[in-house]
Amino acid sequence: MKINIQDMDIHPIEVNEEISLEFISPLIREYYPNQASVHVYVEKIKKEFRVHIDLKTKGHYVCDRCLDEFDVNFSADIEQQYHQGAGELLDEDIIRIEADAVEIDIDPVISEMMLLNHPQKMLCREDCKGICPNCGAHLNHEACRCGEKPIDPRWEELRKLLK
Ligand SMILES: [Zn+2]
Ligand SMILES: [Zn+2]
Repeated sequence: MKINIQDMDIHPIEVNEEISLEFISPLIREYYPNQASVHVYVEKIKKEFRVHIDLKTKGHYVCDRCLDEFDVNFSADIEQQYHQGAGELLDEDIIRIEADAVEIDIDPVISEMMLLNHPQKMLCREDCKGICPNCGAHLNHEACRCGEKPIDPRWEELRKLLK
């Protein structure tokens, strides 16, 4: 997504756009197949651009416990500063853009903010009961079968011998 800064004066600008997230880091790209709504607010102070980015989309995740796929709202926001042309950067987080730049490409910053906010843990719901490691029952939808009599006939033979 590119922000046109060509005719920017002292007035802040606002941009709203629906974008696809194909450009984000390959580490997390598969989790964000949906369109994202991005709201950008840009203020210019001399050669500094202060860019506030607000992003909303739906993450498509796989539950860590039960392996079900699910969609959930994802949102992130960040403020990034850019400096146009030469001159000392006051902060190492400031990104330099060319003196004659007519636009700012915010894709790298969007990719980074997505990485930072990407969930470490993915649960389809807080109380997901997961999968029984013994019988493989999906415990959100069905009861565990471990309590039932073993169906393996060899166990039945053994049981007879023990009687
Ligand atoms: Zn689950
Ligand atoms: Zn079980």
